[in-house]
Amino acid sequence: MSTTTQQTLSQKFENFLTRYYKNQVMELAKSYPQKKSLKIEFKDLNNYDPELCDKLIEKPDKTINSAQNALKNIDLPIDKKLEDTNIRFIELTKSEKVLARNIRSHHIGQFISLEGIIRKATEVRPKLTKAHFECLRCGHEQKIKQDGNDFKEPYECNGCERKGPFDLNEDKSEFMDSQKIQIQEVPEKLRGGEQPQDINIQVEDDITGKGVPGNRVIINGILRSYQKTNTKGKTNLFDVYVDCNSIEIKEQEFREIEITEQEKEKIIELSQDEEIYQKIIDSIAPSIYGYKNVKEAMTLQLFSGVPKKLPDGSRIRGDIHTLLVGDPGIGKSQILRYVSNLAPRGVYASGKSSTSAGLTAAAVRDEFGDGKWTLEAGALVLADKGIATIDEIDKMDSKDRSALHEAMEQQRISIAKAGITATLQSRCALLGAANPKYGRFDEYEPIGEQIDLEPTLLSRFDLIFTLQDEPDEDEDSKIASHIMTSHETGEISHRNRGTESDSDIGDIEPVIEPDMMRKYIAFSKQVTPVLTPDAKEQMKEFYIDLRAAGEEDESPVPVTARQLEALIRLAEASARTRLSEDVVDVDAKRAINIVKECLKDVGVDPETGEYDIDMLATGTSKSQRDKIRALKEIIDELDQGGSGASKQEVVEEAEDRGISEKDVHDIIQRLREKGDIIEPKTGNLRTA
Ligand code: ADP
Ligand code: MG
Repeated sequence: MSTTTQQTLSQKFENFLTRYYKNQVMELAKSYPQKKSLKIEFKDLNNYDPELCDKLIEKPDKTINSAQNALKNIDLPIDKKLEDTNIRFIELTKSEKVLARNIRSHHIGQFISLEGIIRKATEVRPKLTKAHFECLRCGHEQKIKQDGNDFKEPYECNGCERKGPFDLNEDKSEFMDSQKIQIQEVPEKLRGGEQPQDINIQVEDDITGKGVPGNRVIINGILRSYQKTNTKGKTNLFDVYVDCNSIEIKEQEFREIEITEQEKEKIIELSQDEEIYQKIIDSIAPSIYGYKNVKEAMTLQLFSGVPKKLPDGSRIRGDIHTLLVGDPGIGKSQILRYVSNLAPRGVYASGKSSTSAGLTAAAVRDEFGDGKWTLEAGALVLADKGIATIDEIDKMDSKDRSALHEAMEQQRISIAKAGITATLQSRCALLGAANPKYGRFDEYEPIGEQIDLEPTLLSRFDLIFTLQDEPDEDEDSKIASHIMTSHETGEISHRNRGTESDSDIGDIEPVIEPDMMRKYIAFSKQVTPVLTPDAKEQMKEFYIDLRAAGEEDESPVPVTARQLEALIRLAEASARTRLSEDVVDVDAKRAINIVKECLKDVGVDPETGEYDIDMLATGTSKSQRDKIRALKEIIDELDQGGSGASKQEVVEEAEDRGISEKDVHDIIQRLREKGDIIEPKTGNLRTA
């Protein structure tokens, strides 16, 4: 009975292939064995015979086998035999895609389709499929088919009937490329801070090495189980993996978020509201009091500028990177979580991340790869085309620091380690939060020096905000009542008692619901606003003025071209908030304002009151640099014989030139720590 069904299955596939896939089969035959896969679209099979589709889902092993046999049996007009081919089924339509979290025991043995993002991928390495043994006693040869991961040896020799020993002849054995990957649920399918789940995928033969970490893929294959073991041996628990039949790599056209016609109408209606900009800002983390500027920046970051391709092939990012540096306990983490939930593709991670991939990516050799190297994607790769929010970014690993430079500006991460060389995409916006270097801001130190990140890294942020926790009775009372109201609102929704007064709730509830907002943002990404001449002129003027302000007292360039790019991105994002194709006057003004605020926050030289972005870039303000230079000159002048200058004389000379004794001591202290000044003997100073 079962053989007849087998035959009819094979015959059905043979009919199907000769009728509908004749060209594809011929093409495969021509390029065989360089190419060895025939792809069959699920819908074609369904049109031909829906029953075959059901069979594929329910009895995939048998069905795929029959299809492969059918292909072997087809009469080809050319002299080739398709001995060793794969049939790969793609674009499953019949059933919904299964999420990793929804996999249940009834799926075991079935053909399923999973959607995810590749998180890990091992190197491609050969795997033994048919072992060729020689009996060392009598020389008899025998073959044993290998499946699974365990090595199977002959029980006894078929020739002399003794139990070996046997020798594996590698030349005569057959191998197949093999790779293990892990996919993770895509961020847009997760809500409310859910942790994404993973599932392992076994990939073999000609589809190995196709996807890299960060790729969004659909995996079609058979769900298999294997018995878990612990130190005592086998257990009753089973784990699952997918035996991959086909991988579909989705690049641009990945459906972000489903938006219905009705929702689309609502979005367009909202976009025409005169107050839309403010309404969006008010919908960002409404439970956090204040931070007008920060919330405006978050808004623009969520909507983002437009990436550009230049004729020379290079690319300019459209994503806006922002950094919040602030005292502890002022709501930074809360804001980050909110933004990451609001973003259509948000990934939340901590700088102190526990995964080996960290923030960027890593090549590791661990249990997952069974001895092979594994390439693993970190937060910025997983957030490709979305927002990565990184809390405590100042605590990140040193290897992440260097990789982050490339990840933020070129938006890719290059890895070359062991057998792995790869370039992963990280086209995402970064929202980082950090505490000041000494835990809290010290108001007497320039702020630039208190941010514990390299200047080169800082300069890659479009906007940097510093948030200080200064006691202020009036403000504190407002924050307090705001927090009280949030808590009350939470309690009410717990108990489901409607006793709240409308005015209180108004502050806490977002004007636009998060779900709607997410769709609005996703929808806005289709709009690519262009600068109007007026907006262009305004931003150019602002930028040139800023640069000129630095020139007057010969201060080194205070503003770099990065600020101009930031302005453009911000203005574009502003236009997107009302789904407008034109970046107009008001967009330029908003961008300029917010950049001004940020410069004030961090770039202002506290001693001259001038804009000095260089302070950020080098960590030292201009006036301070002048003092350092003067002090080094004094030391060199007074240091006659090379044995050093007397500290006392240096202080006196410096005071004559207008540098206070305290400053001198501070600077000397700092320069000694950096090794710029050495003390050859107590009380004497020499420049290094
Ligand atoms: P941080 O990450 O800056 O150290 P958190 O985000 O963990 O701080 O905030 C600590 C708590 O204080 C959170 O529960 C947050 O809601 C509350 N909080 C701090 N500042 C505000 C504010 N301005 N408005 C409302 N709640 C606040
Ligand atoms: Mg925090």
